[in-house]
Amino acid sequence: MSGTQGIEFTADVLVIGGGPAGAWAAWSAAREGAKVVLADKGYLGSSGATAPGGTNLLVLPPDRELRDAAVRQRVEASGYLAEERWIHRVLDQVYTSLLLVESWGYPFVRDENGTPMRNHLQGPEYMKLMRRAAAKAGVRILDQSPALELLRDEHGAAGARGVSRLDGREWTVRAHAVVIATGGCAFLSKGLGCNVLTGEGLLMSAELGAELSGMEFTRQYAPSAAFGTVTRGRLLNWATLYDEEGQELEGHGNRGGLHRLLHEGKKVFAVMDKADTEEKRSILRQSHAIFFLPYDRAGIDPFTQPFPLTLRYEGTVRGTGGLRLTEDDCSTTVPGLYAAGDAATRERVTGAISGGGAYNASWAISSGTWAGAGAARYALSQGRDAGQRLARPAGTAGTAAYEAGAAGSFQAQDVIEGVQREVFPLGINYYRSVPVLKQSLQRLDALWSGMGGAVPDTVQARVRSREAAAMAAAARWMYSAALGRRETRGMHTLAEYPQADPLQQHRLIVSGIGGIRLRPEAVPGSPAVRIETLQEEVRT
Ligand SMILES: Cc1cc2nc3c(=O)[nH]c(=O)nc-3n(C[C@H](O)[C@H](O)[C@H](O)COP(=O)(O)OP(=O)(O)OC[C@H]3O[C@@H](n4cnc5c(N)ncnc54)[C@H](O)[C@@H]3O)c2cc1C
Repeated sequence: MSGTQGIEFTADVLVIGGGPAGAWAAWSAAREGAKVVLADKGYLGSSGATAPGGTNLLVLPPDRELRDAAVRQRVEASGYLAEERWIHRVLDQVYTSLLLVESWGYPFVRDENGTPMRNHLQGPEYMKLMRRAAAKAGVRILDQSPALELLRDEHGAAGARGVSRLDGREWTVRAHAVVIATGGCAFLSKGLGCNVLTGEGLLMSAELGAELSGMEFTRQYAPSAAFGTVTRGRLLNWATLYDEEGQELEGHGNRGGLHRLLHEGKKVFAVMDKADTEEKRSILRQSHAIFFLPYDRAGIDPFTQPFPLTLRYEGTVRGTGGLRLTEDDCSTTVPGLYAAGDAATRERVTGAISGGGAYNASWAISSGTWAGAGAARYALSQGRDAGQRLARPAGTAGTAAYEAGAAGSFQAQDVIEGVQREVFPLGINYYRSVPVLKQSLQRLDALWSGMGGAVPDTVQARVRSREAAAMAAAARWMYSAALGRRETRGMHTLAEYPQADPLQQHRLIVSGIGGIRLRPEAVPGSPAVRIETLQEEVRT
């Protein structure tokens, strides 16, 4: 690739990531009058967690009483880390945005009264519409163009640099504002749609000094057929689960039994025998066709034949952690840097519990809309052309620039496997305890400090190296935060601290790459927590 001429673009706003959050951000920025470029690692319309399946949404009609009750219930469920005001903002935004989606031609299913049921979006149809909406609004779309590092100058974020998988050329986009919408980090655990979600947006932003929050709430594993990648586990509610001896798992709705047996190295089987009529089976097949693909390919009838189950780790995709937002427009602590969707922390609306299953999809729409508009306003206020900024690439670990002239080469696959050995095992990440997490963090730190070496100059190697570095960074942030939260709250547990501690009703802010820092942050509107007395405790 050396010697190949790169491609240069200038924009007001660069959006990195083309899932729903990125698509909404790009559309929203363009609507504000900004010149927008969107770069996606895959293809806007079929890449990321939503595109291949679809999502249920948190959406309520604008009925004050109904909403107030639902919001109060959600704040309680969130372990009191969510904020009523933000949940209301999301509900308001999603309601209007979905009317827009409908006006663009999305065919919502209607109930018996003819009312559209706007609480579910089929991924392929939704994302096809979003691509069309973004393109129509004038967004320049760069498909198959993973971003590798941000550009910075003394004012803050100034664009990004990446490579095109289509022609092998390097691209540079100079912009006054950047929206990070790269989704969560699923650590290449083979969940459908998640193989592109490796956390570079988090690493790139942290390299500019951005902070993260909620990284301890990352304990979600999804059941899937052992031979498949589809983790849309809702359909498994129609299954009976059996152990190796053919004994039905007691209360298998409680997935704990599944986690425990798999953790002990035993096998678990499922058969979807609760769908016991042809009619039910046909409805399930029609509503979630993608779920059945791996079974059809393997020649298994899941309604009558038992199949082995596994658990796939979902990291921050259905966890909560991501970039910390400072204002209503989804800005971060870095001027010109905005975050949306799963790349941003969802704590303000989900608190300590998973964002998957309804919140995340609504969050992607709302935060995307706000981040795009915020980035556009900021960019347009800058006046001069973004191309005039003297910006330089800010990448560190896993970039070609990282160890320029260093001996040896960066072994991305070794780093990836090393990280996976720490984050996949249920015995480390699901059944969390202080000594086990500490040891794991030490191994991750060692992996991090041994990550030098030059990166081979091919597109695939450069992308893989950055993915490896980002996964290592995300794992270290997760376990540092997990050790800093010495209690059990929502998704996070520690064996030694089985209860929620009222004094820890705060957020944990993580920052830094080489050396990781933690600090507590009070939840606005929450009863005051003695934050200052916790300063010592959160240092691991
Ligand atoms: C199995 C499953 C089921 C789910 N079900 C639900 C549900 O029912 N309800 C719900 O609310 N949520 C659900 N979720 C979560 C939901 O899918 C996500 O919250 C949503 O997709 C987030 O949108 P996003 O745009 O932030 O990220 P994504 O949709 O994941 O998109 C991220 C995009 O960023 C791109 N990207 C990544 N790195 C780079 C890079 N370096 N350069 C350029 N581009 C990059 C990717 O290619 C991708 O297109 C589910 C998730 C999974 C995995």
